[in-house]
Amino acid sequence: MSAALRALPSVEKLAHALSRELPLSKALLIGLIQRESTAWRARILDAGETPEREEIETDIRQKAAALANSRLRPVINATGVCIHTNLGRSPLGQRSAAALNSIATGYSNLEFDLATGARGQRAGYLETALAAVLQTQAATAVNNCAAALVLTIRHLIAGGKDEVIVSRGELVEIGGGFRIPEVIETSGAKLVEVGATNKVHLADYERAISDKTGLILKVHRSNFTIEGFTAEPPTPELAALAHEHGIPLVEDLGSGALMATDQLAPLDHEPTPMECLVAGIDLVLFSGDKLLGGPQAGIIAGRADLVAGIKREPFFRAVRCDKLILTVLQECIDDYLAAHAGERPDVPVLGFLAAPQGQIADRCCALLDSLADLPAHITVVDSTANTGGGTMPKSAIPSAALRIAPRNIAVEQLAARLRSQAPALVGTIYDNALHLDLRTVFPHQDTLVADLIVRSFAHDD
Ligand SMILES: *Cc1c(COP(=O)(O)O)cnc(C)c1O
Repeated sequence: MSAALRALPSVEKLAHALSRELPLSKALLIGLIQRESTAWRARILDAGETPEREEIETDIRQKAAALANSRLRPVINATGVCIHTNLGRSPLGQRSAAALNSIATGYSNLEFDLATGARGQRAGYLETALAAVLQTQAATAVNNCAAALVLTIRHLIAGGKDEVIVSRGELVEIGGGFRIPEVIETSGAKLVEVGATNKVHLADYERAISDKTGLILKVHRSNFTIEGFTAEPPTPELAALAHEHGIPLVEDLGSGALMATDQLAPLDHEPTPMECLVAGIDLVLFSGDKLLGGPQAGIIAGRADLVAGIKREPFFRAVRCDKLILTVLQECIDDYLAAHAGERPDVPVLGFLAAPQGQIADRCCALLDSLADLPAHITVVDSTANTGGGTMPKSAIPSAALRIAPRNIAVEQLAARLRSQAPALVGTIYDNALHLDLRTVFPHQDTLVADLIVRSFAHDD
């Protein structure tokens, strides 16, 4: 046993060695090695294990490498999934990045009126610009769409009207445990379900209305579809019913594309917030980092009295955006305002969606020469890209990919080597080969992609 205890590494020496191999500070490594050594000591003393020094060091080295990999760093997304939630949803445009840099590294007029020198209104410009782009009375932004929904429900159920009416066909789970019934409960409201999964009629809503109804909520089926024997009342009819009873009608739209997606790419038409508002929705809620292409945010837009009330909620303070998000969102909305009718603003995800398949295939072909000598069978194949991010479940955009079938290593090993590069390169394995769809890769990164592939074949694990 004491021989086994002598196998425990010297914390100082191992920390020194690992700090040269990995982008981790020595202070962080010392903590990790001490924790892992304590665990090994317990395994030796309590379980009678007799590990060799090398086994312990390899184990700690792997844990340190996993920690280094979990540090936020750039990834090249070659999955073809444009809004990839695991890869950070929407990348920002150059204009947003430049603005972010200038606001982040200095002071700003966040809550300061430069005309009078007195305290000013936070997000005043952004709210005006949002309302203008959405062609509605008022708008504001909070941390994300989930927060926007909780905040809106909490506000509208104040005063004892705590019932929220939702169709059974819209009790959606978004992902990451976000379920509409639970969100309603968390907000302190009571869910009143109406209709059946596939069919809901205006009369179902009408029967559910009581003097306790705080709002009627519509939830966009953003990540699944219901087809076949289905029915739901058109929004203008539901809005007329709600307004007859003095009840607000709210729609959680999820993605909220400001562009007509069907004109951008061979995609279905994703309902826009403007269409919802014109149809009679009082407040529409949507995400900033899905098809809008901006930062993580939740936008609340519509009736001025309701937006003003929401902003007065104490809970608004807990979910408000910081100056960095406000900066990026302001640039993104300005991009939309500057684009002329039907034109595409300078938002990377929209560019990815709109690129013609032939252009992606040409970019793939252009890389083949620099990959010619590798021990792999590499071809350019048709592929299918998606909008992703819980948007447009039926989206299938014709795209092109580099198909790499390595000869000297397993395809999983190649994929792992590419993920460990800087920047990491992430593709998709199917049909026994790695597929790198260039639709979601910035064209200026194409030669870097080729370099990373060459380096991965030269690499030994
Ligand atoms: C994605 C989505 C949300 C959550 O949006 P976040 O901005 O990620 O909080 C809420 N509702 C619907 C319908 C969605 O699609």
